[in-house]
Amino acid sequence: MNKKPLIIANWKMNPDTAKEALKNFKEIKNVASAHKKVETVICPPMGYVGLFKDETLLGAQNMFYAESGSYTGEVSPLMLGDLGVNYVILGHSERRALGETNQDIAKKVVSCIKHSLTPIVCVGESSRDADDYSNFVADQVRQAVSMIPVEAVPQLVFAYEPIWAIGAGAERPATAEEAKEMKLFIRKTLTDIAGDYAKSVRIMYGGSTNPANTKDFLVNGEADGLLVGGASLDPKTFGEMLSIANNL
Ligand code: PEP
Repeated sequence: MNKKPLIIANWKMNPDTAKEALKNFKEIKNVASAHKKVETVICPPMGYVGLFKDETLLGAQNMFYAESGSYTGEVSPLMLGDLGVNYVILGHSERRALGETNQDIAKKVVSCIKHSLTPIVCVGESSRDADDYSNFVADQVRQAVSMIPVEAVPQLVFAYEPIWAIGAGAERPATAEEAKEMKLFIRKTLTDIAGDYAKSVRIMYGGSTNPANTKDFLVNGEADGLLVGGASLDPKTFGEMLSIANNL
C-alpha cells in the first residue's frame, strides 16, 4: 500500500482549558505543515471541536449514528460534517468500557459512510491470556462492517489497540511483531468478508506509542499509522513522532 502513514492524536478528555487546546493545536499544526509525508489528524474532546472549524487536521473522538433528534448529549454526523471534521474514532476501548456495543459501532460506521466521514474503528482484546483473543478481535471486525456493502469497506480505517497496551494502566506496549501479526489477521478477516475490497484498508496500531518506538511500529510492525494517546498531549513529543514518521 502506498499511502502516507496516518498519525492521529487522541487527546481524550484533555487539556483542561480551551486556551491550552488552541495553543497545542497550533503547535502541532506548525509541525504537521512541515511534514508532508505524513497525514496528521488531531481529535480534540467534543467540547473543543468547534474551535477548530474547517481545519484540515480535524477529527472527532466519537459520533452518534442518528442525524438529529432526542439524543441528549450526543453529536451527529451532520454537526461534525458542518465543522469540517474528516475522521471519527469509533469504538475506542474506553467507550466500549462505558457500554458501547459492537452493534452501536456498526450503526455508526453506516452513518459515517453515508456522511462521507472516515471511521477509524478501534478493535483489540483486553488480555492475551484468553485462548480466543484473536476470535474476539475478528468478531469486532466482522460486526463493524456487518451493516455496510463490501464496496464501502475500503473507506474504513482500523486501529488495532490491545487494551493491555493502552494508556496509564498499560502492562507494556505490544511488540512490533505482535502488532504486525494482528494487522495481517485483521486484513485476513476483512478479506474473508470483502475479498479484494479489503486490500486497501488502512490498519493502524495504537498503544503506548512514543518517539522511541514510532519507527519500529511503522517499519517492522508495518502499521499504516499510529493512534496516539498520552504522547499526543505534549506537542513537542507528538511533533517528534511526526518527524520520525516523515523521515522513514
Ligand atoms: C489510546 O487510548 O488510544 C492510546 C493509544 O493511548 P496511549 O497512546 O496513551 O497508550
